[in-house]
Amino acid sequence: GARDELGAYIAKPETYATDVVVYHNDDFVAIHDMFPKSSLHLLLLPRDQTKTRMHPFDAFEDAEFLEKVKAETQTLRNLAAGELRRKYGKDSTQEQARQAALSADPPPDELPQGRDWEQDIVVGVHAVPSMNHLHVHILSVDRYSDRLKHRKHYNSFSTPFFVPIEDFPLAEDDVRRDPTKQGYLKQDFTCWRCSRGFGNRFAELKQHLEQEFKEWKKL
Ligand code: 5GP
Ligand code: ZN
Repeated sequence: GARDELGAYIAKPETYATDVVVYHNDDFVAIHDMFPKSSLHLLLLPRDQTKTRMHPFDAFEDAEFLEKVKAETQTLRNLAAGELRRKYGKDSTQEQARQAALSADPPPDELPQGRDWEQDIVVGVHAVPSMNHLHVHILSVDRYSDRLKHRKHYNSFSTPFFVPIEDFPLAEDDVRRDPTKQGYLKQDFTCWRCSRGFGNRFAELKQHLEQEFKEWKKL
């Protein structure tokens, strides 16, 4: 069924073009999310057959496995940051200074630091995944996408329903273990960037997200 569709990427990653499968190795497949909820949205799929059908909270109880996944998400975070730099970096003042220094003759010994795009990437899992195969989201913070069409889309990436990979292993009594009780998806909207509240006014939130996106990428 539809909930099993991520399985195909794990089974035969080599059959996809690079705009679908970003890379694959023996243990992981990295893909582009088909319905991105941010301007950049990737998924990391562990290929371990004993884990792929597990809920992330259970799969990550295995400390060795968790460390492996964390290490791989770091690789992907880095790759995603590079992609943001390529997409948006040219506009930023820091990047302009960096480019100018790079092309100077002779170039300076120390290059100005570019913007650290890794800080603009979030990595984590949904407390209640909709797709059956274990996957980790790697996405830019903007939540700016045509595919972000429903209230729950925004809140699933902007409330504790989204559990950052850094937070694992979860404590025994972590409230996020019982996500339905918390009503995260029905919560009032809060802008990820300026914390402004939008009640349940989705259209207004969407307009605001576009403004924030423009400012964020130029920062
Ligand atoms: P979940 O809510 O399960 O954590 O997220 C599943 C993700 O998989 C969603 O972001 C959704 O857009 C994405 N997705 C659903 N079906 C497909 C598919 O067939 N291919 C790809 N590449 N992504 C998919
Ligand atoms: Zn805002």
